[in-house]
Amino acid sequence: MTNSYHFQDQVAIITGGSNGIGRATAIMMAEAGAHVFAGDIKHLSENRESFSRLNIEEVTCDVRQESQVQALIEQATNKYGRIDILVNNAGIGLVKPIHQVTEAEWDACIDTNLKGTFFGCKHAIKYMLATGGGAIVNTASNAGLLPRVHDPVYSISKHAVVALTESLGLCHGKNNIRINCVCPGPVGETGMMNDDIMNAADPEGLTQSMIRASPIAAANRRMIKPEEVASAICYLASKDALMVTGTALRIDGGKSLGVPPQGT
Ligand code: NAD
Repeated sequence: MTNSYHFQDQVAIITGGSNGIGRATAIMMAEAGAHVFAGDIKHLSENRESFSRLNIEEVTCDVRQESQVQALIEQATNKYGRIDILVNNAGIGLVKPIHQVTEAEWDACIDTNLKGTFFGCKHAIKYMLATGGGAIVNTASNAGLLPRVHDPVYSISKHAVVALTESLGLCHGKNNIRINCVCPGPVGETGMMNDDIMNAADPEGLTQSMIRASPIAAANRRMIKPEEVASAICYLASKDALMVTGTALRIDGGKSLGVPPQGT
């Protein structure tokens, strides 16, 4: 994918940056000139070569822990004196009907997807207020736009991320801080999707049903690629989107637009 963004010397922090959408975003921003900090609970040896070539700094950070999110942001601000871009991307799924969800599973999903995004916004905005602005992009989901049958708690967490994005977009426009989110559909080559497929009774059947659920994915006979979401994140973080805030950008091949009539 060609990269036409310009982030020369901008300071960018990406949570969940070791894999999937976060890794693709870290690489795309670093290739466009940003100083990138990739925070994650896991570090993958397969990233070593590309991250070191692009000077992407890997930081251990569990977004459920406020002190760790604060430390991640301070690592960047201590080194460069500011933070220009934060991508709150770390997230986990939870595929279970509500009557089977334990309190611990609820907490894990809501704390990672929502509370982690709150911690990131809280600590980044503090610095962005002091330096005259910045851009935050949250990774929500098409599940944040429509309720879903198979993963209601995940859907609740992502609806809340969309609401947080809109609320903070409204609050901080006057501070030149833009807050947007992306709402991806089924993204292949991600840890989350690989786990779902691996654990399915019929992996090929699940793959095909995911593709069918998204009209443009179906037309192209493939899932969405991490780079296609990363590109949208880069747009929202870039100066090209200077007048864009509080938006939830669908990158889902039309999945959340409604239910197509049967047989079409
Ligand atoms: P992924 O599993 O490849 O990436 C998620 C990353 O987040 C992993 O590197 C993981 O280690 C990290 N992570 C998990 N818990 C964390 C924590 N507590 N603290 C810090 N890091 C943590 O999956 P992905 O699809 O790239 O997920 C990225 C985001 O995209 C998530 O927010 C997910 O909800 C969202 N999303 C994914 C899809 C999809 O189909 N894959 C669709 C819509 C939205």
